[in-house]
Amino acid sequence: MAQNLDNGDKLPNDPILPGNSFRQGCAAKAADPLPASATSGLMGVSLHRRTALIASLAPLLSEVAFARTGTGAHTSASSHLHNTVHAPAIIRGAAPPPPLVMLDPGHGGKDPGAIGYSGTYEKHVSEAAAAELERQLLATGRYRVALTRSSDRFIPLEGRVEMAQAHKASLFISMHADALHDPTVRGASVYTLAGAASDSQTAMIAQSENSADLFGGPHVHATSPEVQQILASLVSEETRRGSTHIANQVVSSFQSRLSLLSHPHRHAAFVVLKAADIPSVLVEMGFMSNRSDEAALRQAGHRAMVAGAMRDAVDRYFATTRLGVG
Ligand SMILES: [Zn+2]
Repeated sequence: MAQNLDNGDKLPNDPILPGNSFRQGCAAKAADPLPASATSGLMGVSLHRRTALIASLAPLLSEVAFARTGTGAHTSASSHLHNTVHAPAIIRGAAPPPPLVMLDPGHGGKDPGAIGYSGTYEKHVSEAAAAELERQLLATGRYRVALTRSSDRFIPLEGRVEMAQAHKASLFISMHADALHDPTVRGASVYTLAGAASDSQTAMIAQSENSADLFGGPHVHATSPEVQQILASLVSEETRRGSTHIANQVVSSFQSRLSLLSHPHRHAAFVVLKAADIPSVLVEMGFMSNRSDEAALRQAGHRAMVAGAMRDAVDRYFATTRLGVG
């Protein structure tokens, strides 16, 4: 069957939808652009108003910062202030648990994602690739790994972000293989969050991948859009640095092993990358709309190579972050 993946055991059997040979993953649901409040930064907020709001947000900020530090919190001086409220007693000399890497296979269930040139579903490719990356990361013994889904089920984008936050993930990696209208475009690419897309092609990819609007995580749900903006902009500077750092490592790993888009590190307003407190990256492993990329991603060996490159990137990310380089 054309849509079956070469993954040895899991053979997806969803029928190929009639009509076009491929389509964009979430285009039908991506019609709603991000609200202006989600992309306009702090423009329009007076300095005086910002200062007052920032002062009133201090307690919230400390909570977010604590959640963000994850395993690192056990060794940071600042965490001491919060131990009595947020954390169980720390046993002297106990080693902190390994960092938790949250893998996010795109789409699932009623959302097939992109449908490839010959009928492969993106949701199956992303699930198989994430399972392989999980296996490789666990094999190092250096990480804990959680997946937003390990079966073919639908999870809203905001639910994926909330899962990562509930796990106190140190890193969030969303895995995709989108489709474009131009079937000649091929190659991997890596995306980080920004209010405005770096280019029109990236804007289309972000629109395709976004199926819900969300700004901020559960920490800020109860606040106004204005406060969400300020809070997110303050707490996410470190997160942005971490996101850029992991994106650079993934691009570097991919460079010698598989074809890349030109300017392979791009940015746009991907909803699934909007955890203010967790460095997040979205990896398009290739384009299902390209015959060569689709054929490659159907092969378990190719997916193992892609996952190996991503594992190496994660290794370098944590090695340098712990040294304060990231
Ligand atoms: Zn996707």
